[in-house]
Amino acid sequence: MDFARRGVMLVIASPSGAGKSSISRALFAQDPNIRLSVSVTTRARRTDEIDGTHYDFIDVPTFEKMRDNGELLEWAEVHGNYYATPRAKVEDRLASGKDILFDIDYQGTLQLYENCRDDMVTVFILPPSIAELRARLERRAQDSVGTIEKRLRNARKEMDHYAEYDFVLVNEDLEDSVQKVRSILASARLGRTRQTRLDGFVRDLQSQIDTLG
Ligand code: 5GP
Repeated sequence: MDFARRGVMLVIASPSGAGKSSISRALFAQDPNIRLSVSVTTRARRTDEIDGTHYDFIDVPTFEKMRDNGELLEWAEVHGNYYATPRAKVEDRLASGKDILFDIDYQGTLQLYENCRDDMVTVFILPPSIAELRARLERRAQDSVGTIEKRLRNARKEMDHYAEYDFVLVNEDLEDSVQKVRSILASARLGRTRQTRLDGFVRDLQSQIDTLG
């Protein structure tokens, strides 16, 4: 029996520090069927980045051609560089029954909603408290005090959109949150419209009943 299915586009969004990256990393480690979407960008490659892994690095004319030909599911200009999600790679992966995780902001999510709502399941991660969010940002020790304050102000704005996501998780415990995201993904995979051979399977069950006479 072949229960072929279409892949899921799983979007995880959160204010910076709420735990999105840790949850995504754990999810990839536990589930080989889901992979991070690789965006295209016109920004220069950093020395520690691998072309095709972190991004597909392209030039501006290539980006403009892709955009104008409708080859992008969503795109944004950030700090003077273009970033985008190409349609073809996503479509190929979904068609082969593999899932894709999108780590994109609210604007990107809105564009994906317009182009592929039926393939998407979206999750918004909240921190358990602002004290904990601040502590996580400080533990990362990547940012200056000013940057942490800026990230907290941004977090306030990002939280405005929590109600536009399908699922909301308060990330108190990493392992528990990972299990919850895995449950969301497991039920999304069973969605009726994702199971591409159901019609034939049900007809076959019915015809077996018919032959019983
Ligand atoms: P960075 O240059 O530091 O890798 O990324 C800069 C910003 O671009 C980040 O906020 C990141 O979320 C955003 N970004 C990366 N890829 C995409 C994409 O495919 N689409 C959109 N809309 N934003 C992206």
